[in-house]
Amino acid sequence: MAEDNLVHSHDANHPANLICELCKLFYSNGWVTGTGGGISVKDGDLIYLAPSGVQKERMVPDNMFVMDSKTKEYIRRPQIYKPSACTPLFMAAYDIRGAGACIHTHSQNAVMVSLLYEKEFKIANIEQIKALPRVTSQGYLGFYDTLTIPIIENTAHEEDLKDTLERAILDYPEATAVLVRRHGIYVWGESVWKAKVYNEAIDYLLELAIKMRQCGIAPDGAIGSEKGALRVE
Ligand SMILES: [Zn+2]
Repeated sequence: MAEDNLVHSHDANHPANLICELCKLFYSNGWVTGTGGGISVKDGDLIYLAPSGVQKERMVPDNMFVMDSKTKEYIRRPQIYKPSACTPLFMAAYDIRGAGACIHTHSQNAVMVSLLYEKEFKIANIEQIKALPRVTSQGYLGFYDTLTIPIIENTAHEEDLKDTLERAILDYPEATAVLVRRHGIYVWGESVWKAKVYNEAIDYLLELAIKMRQCGIAPDGAIGSEKGALRVE
């Protein structure tokens, strides 16, 4: 099939190969257990999407769906798989933010944080924040900046998250991620590697915030506020 040329490449940096490599990595992180989560990479006018229901650690390039980013029509659609339910949500990151890749995980840190915070997750004054971008003004956050990630409510079906996810992307122009309550997180970036790094940095910060709160330290508190005042406001 001519469409197979879209996914068969010896180039390790080909999107179909990258998706497989990252799915294995994310599986080992516990982020995409039991076929949960998803990943998509944009390459020019083509959007590569991992299918639904495939064990992430066993993903192969042949499994990939490929969509034309302009017409939103599949130009490669393996018949034995279903397209990922994340697809309309990935499109929101591509269309609204011009993202180069989008990653969805069911990380337990993301789920726990969504239960500890109401509308927004905030963390400040932690070195790892510097891995995350200032979306509207270029560059990266500084040590003294506050990272804010909006939290939206889950729906019975993943694709039904589209409207609220789009609303959150528009309402939080500085955000490069959206948490979904009792579900997980969507993270996007200018390239696949940036999306990966943002996802790692955010997951680190989510895990740290859970631990800080367990010790009574407010993750978005001022430096030094943790001394003597071991209560989360
Ligand atoms: Zn999901």
